[in-house]
Amino acid sequence: MSAQAPDGTDGYALLAARRPIIPVEGIAASALQNNYDQVRGPRRHEAIDIMAARGTRVLAVDDGKLVKLFTSVPGGITAYQFDPQGRLAYYYAHLDRYAQGLREGMELKRGDLIGYVGSTGNASAEAPHLHFAVFRLGPEQQWWKGEPLNPYPALRAAGGATAAR
Ligand SMILES: [Zn+2]
Repeated sequence: MSAQAPDGTDGYALLAARRPIIPVEGIAASALQNNYDQVRGPRRHEAIDIMAARGTRVLAVDDGKLVKLFTSVPGGITAYQFDPQGRLAYYYAHLDRYAQGLREGMELKRGDLIGYVGSTGNASAEAPHLHFAVFRLGPEQQWWKGEPLNPYPALRAAGGATAAR
């Protein structure tokens, strides 16, 4: 499966160049699990789950605009952020709650607090985690739609970057 956009830019190269940090505070790169390809019912997971205690801080992986705060049946309390060029979207789901003062349209810096790990939506209450997905936006820049990219390689490369703030 290719993540090539119509303009020929490779989505994985774009993501790696953004140098995203691990979006859950205190989680080491070596603790990440690559469950992107897991088949769940009729479809692939196309995200990674980062297990953490409820209430652990969820941090912006990159600079860029917070485009949408949205509550859905599967995702629960979620946030969508674009990268500064509006070519990638970052999706944070199952949040327990948002950070105080978080609002749509605000510009985030890498490491800013988005919210807290939880189990809203279809996550098990016994297994709070952050469901984190990345997708390559099309030219329409629709926050709900894009070509999925596995965030695992870029986050592994980040090392312990969350501590570097
Ligand atoms: Zn998930």
